Amino acid sequence: MTALNRRALVGGLAASTLAFSVRAGTVTDTDVIIIGAGYAGISAARQLKALGIRAVILEARDRVGGRAFTDTQSLGRKFDKGPYWLHNKATNPVVPLAKAAGIELTESAYSNMVAFEDGAVLQAMTPAKFFAAGEALERKISSPFARLKDRSLGSTVPGTNLGQKYLRNMFAVEMGDDPDLVSLQGYYNLEAGEDLVPATGMGGLITSLSGGLDIRLNCPVSRIAWKEAHGVTAEGPFGRLTARKIIVTVSTGVLAKGAMRFDPALPLATQEAISNLPMGAFEKVGMMLSQPMPDLPEYALVNKYIEQGKYHSLLVTPDKQLVTALLPSPLSRELYAEGLPALHAFALELFKNVVGNRVNVAMTANSDWHRDPYAMGSYAYQKVGHAAARKGYSQPIEDRLFLTGEAADDPLALTVGGAWRHAQKTALRVSKALRAKAA
Ligand SMILES: Cc1cc2nc3c(=O)[nH]c(=O)nc-3n(C[C@H](O)[C@H](O)[C@H](O)COP(=O)(O)OP(=O)(O)OC[C@H]3O[C@@H](n4cnc5c(N)ncnc54)[C@H](O)[C@@H]3O)c2cc1C
Repeated sequence: MTALNRRALVGGLAASTLAFSVRAGTVTDTDVIIIGAGYAGISAARQLKALGIRAVILEARDRVGGRAFTDTQSLGRKFDKGPYWLHNKATNPVVPLAKAAGIELTESAYSNMVAFEDGAVLQAMTPAKFFAAGEALERKISSPFARLKDRSLGSTVPGTNLGQKYLRNMFAVEMGDDPDLVSLQGYYNLEAGEDLVPATGMGGLITSLSGGLDIRLNCPVSRIAWKEAHGVTAEGPFGRLTARKIIVTVSTGVLAKGAMRFDPALPLATQEAISNLPMGAFEKVGMMLSQPMPDLPEYALVNKYIEQGKYHSLLVTPDKQLVTALLPSPLSRELYAEGLPALHAFALELFKNVVGNRVNVAMTANSDWHRDPYAMGSYAYQKVGHAAARKGYSQPIEDRLFLTGEAADDPLALTVGGAWRHAQKTALRVSKALRAKAA
């Protein structure tokens, strides 16, 4: 039997059991409500649709993609305010979908990094030296014994030499926050590998994957009643929608803020998991150059600021005309608190330290994820001592309320690949729960 036939058969089965449940008197507006049309929500909806299960996505914004947003207005070109890379191409489930959609994918590598001091290349920190420092660290922490008791990722690189300072910088940019706050065990469980950049931008890519789904935009959900006789109800300014099951993909920052009320309240274990998955404030300032600068490396780092613990990277697009300052917290939060002029001035200062008096920035634009009410941060990491938080977070609640997304338990957590894969698995679990109930 071909995969296609098998899928069609499974879909047919699911549809017939659901028809039975409707006859049994549990009529709902739809079978499954999905909150959020980011990578996780779209993934879950596609999977449910493939199984013949009715699903409605309620999305607060006026667009799909969530944190994956390719801004085409601010700089007059594509600027990924959120994700830019498809991380770990070997296992990322979104890579084959992008390929099947005919989207051009470009290789991207951190080995293309160059460190600068006062407009000149810093010979003391070459990619070879950086990777040697990375290997030394790997040798130190690769045995399970070395990680038996959780400690902070930052404690592995106290910054006593230049290599460690650059590793600290990379960890901060990767995790979006101070490595001293991040669980080493949690970090070590993540998959890493080579990255790809889709020509559409990551927002363009998710938009292209969202066709044919029932997505209701401008529908912020403010209350979820999840112990109703029929199943669940989602409410907001749009009205109310009922279903048998609900999948929630909003960030842990949004959940921690309490803008979405759960009736009854979420179990204590889930609430605890949410509080142990805080989000950094990884933000971007895009600088559009008046002319491309072909001699720029893909990644530029400014030694002076790494020495000062002001962690950053400058990322340059393959056409060498967009330079983006990548700024994790706590630095980003401090700069935003000072005001946007201070933020943009710091990004320009970084660039000046790379190219000296050749600065030719025509336009700038920035992200603002940590103050965005529908994101409340960049992505979630496990606090020190709470490496199990993702597992706790993803535990289905009475087989009717399911939390998924980038914060959930997956080796590609934090990223769109993890959000996609976990949400797909969640959809399969929901379909099983629906069938069990109908039987
Ligand atoms: C600056 C930045 C750079 C990043 N870089 C990368 C990268 O290069 N590669 C990578 O893989 N990942 C990267 N990430 C992480 C990536 O963006 C996330 O892992 C991914 O987008 C999460 O998808 P999600 O569907 O889990 O959540 P989201 O994209 O946040 O989707 C949740 C959805 O829920 C909606 N929502 C929120 N509240 C409500 C409500 N009350 N009612 C209805 N809807 C609601 C939101 O609007 C959103 O659309 C980056 C993130 C940031 C911020």
